[in-house]
This record gives sequence, structure tokens and C-alpha cells, in this order.
Amino acid sequence: MGGMGGMGGMGGMGGMGGRSQARNRPTQGDDERYDLEIDFLEAVFGVEKELDTMRLENCDKCSGSGVKAGTKPTTCGTCGGQGQVVATVRTPLGNFQQVTGCQACGGTGQSSTPCPSCGGDGRVRRSKKIQLRVPPGVDKGSRLRVRGEGNAGRRGGPPGDLYVFINVRDDPELKRFDNVNISSTVTVPYTKAILGSTVKVRTVDGPVDLKIPAGVQPQATLLMAKRGVPRLGNDSARGDHYVTVKVTIPSKLSDEERAMIEKLDEKQK
Ligand SMILES: [Zn+2]
Ligand SMILES: [Zn+2]
Repeated sequence: MGGMGGMGGMGGMGGMGGRSQARNRPTQGDDERYDLEIDFLEAVFGVEKELDTMRLENCDKCSGSGVKAGTKPTTCGTCGGQGQVVATVRTPLGNFQQVTGCQACGGTGQSSTPCPSCGGDGRVRRSKKIQLRVPPGVDKGSRLRVRGEGNAGRRGGPPGDLYVFINVRDDPELKRFDNVNISSTVTVPYTKAILGSTVKVRTVDGPVDLKIPAGVQPQATLLMAKRGVPRLGNDSARGDHYVTVKVTIPSKLSDEERAMIEKLDEKQK
């Protein structure tokens, strides 16, 4: 032992001892991320999606052990099966015995022929289709957890989870705010703004009649109650749809129109 040198020598020895393996204890698999982009209305009412995921699964050639099928692990020649080695460290205060994990066998005390299919990891990368029910009310940045559908654990450890990050494509007319509310604009001619009217407004439920009250002011906001987005986790509660009224004023008038407006204008005085 005395001639083995210090810490620096340890690394070299590990390298010479052969392939360095990670420890053999079961560890939980890593979580996996999947980015899913859905349409505006799919986010509002929920949707069923098939995800093409890639993740580590247990290698079936070696049943997840990482050891080549038909071979048996043997006692590690470097540590004699102890899983640790003792080195003498020289310091100005004297020599110290230092116990460290055996790098040749990764502290397992055994050396084995790695499975050629998975390179000894016990897991291989594979694709899997997963059916995902996206609930109503998700929004940009929502994160859905699919338990146990992440990467397989090592040596029989539990799998990680799959996290689905939601992105939502914009709608050209409808905007979402405060998670559950919708806003849009409707344009009415000035005559209809003065006299009142009923217009069709596109909502998440399709076209819905909206009563424009007589004398509505430009930029007024009208409320369509319960025409918003279902609350995530409680679909029976829905937000509202706010409609901002835009009033168009003609920039050109026919002679007849001009005469009528002038008549109205005189009455204002
Ligand atoms: Zn060893
Ligand atoms: Zn394998």
C-alpha cells in the first residue's frame, strides 16, 4: 500500500482497472419534458392528444440489469469485492490512510460484462405514444404532469414523470385575459350606434347575438356573461366575454347624406 502514492494516483489506477461503472443501487428515473402546442379553442374546451414521446425504457435484452445476458458478475479484481480501496495520503503532518470507493467497479465490488444493447446502463431510448387528455381551461405556460411516464429508473428504480408544457396558438380575434375571460371588438356604423342594433359576435361558443343599446359610446365595453373560458379544474365555472364597441364614422358622404346630416346638425343648435 505504501507505494501507491496520493490522490493523483487513485484516478490513474481507476482508469487502468477497466471500465468505470456507476453504482448499482436503484435510482429514480429523470423527469421528461414535452412541448405541446394547441389551438386557441382546444385550450378553452380541452382536447385529446397523442404525444410522440422519447424516453429511456428498461432494456429487455438484460431486463434492466445492464449485465450481458448469459454472463454473471464476478468479484472485482481491483478491490477484491470490498467496493472500496485504501490509499495512503502523504501530508506534511504524516501519512494518512484514506478509504475511497473503488472506481473500477463503481463501489459495487463486482465487475461484469456490459450488455451490448444498452451499454451497461440497463435502459435504452425508445419512442412511445401517450394519450393525453388536456383539460378545459389550460393556458400558455400550463404544465401537465403525467405520472410515471418519464424516464425509467436505473436498476429497477421508479420512473420519472412526464411534464407537458402547453403553448397556445393565438386567435386572430379573441384574446384571453385573467385566465378565464375573453375580449374582442365589434365594429358598428355610427347610425347603428345611435339607434341601437343587434349584431353577431364570434365567441368561443360560435356566433352569438349581442344587443347594442341605442346611444352606445365609442370604446364602450359590453359584457357577454358566461361566454368566457371554463376555469381549469372546475369546468362548470366560466369567465365572461367583453366586447369593445368600435364606431365607424364615414369619411365621405353622398350629397343626399350630407343634406340629411346638415338638417340634423341644425336641430342641435
Ligand atoms: Zn472494485
Ligand atoms: Zn441491456
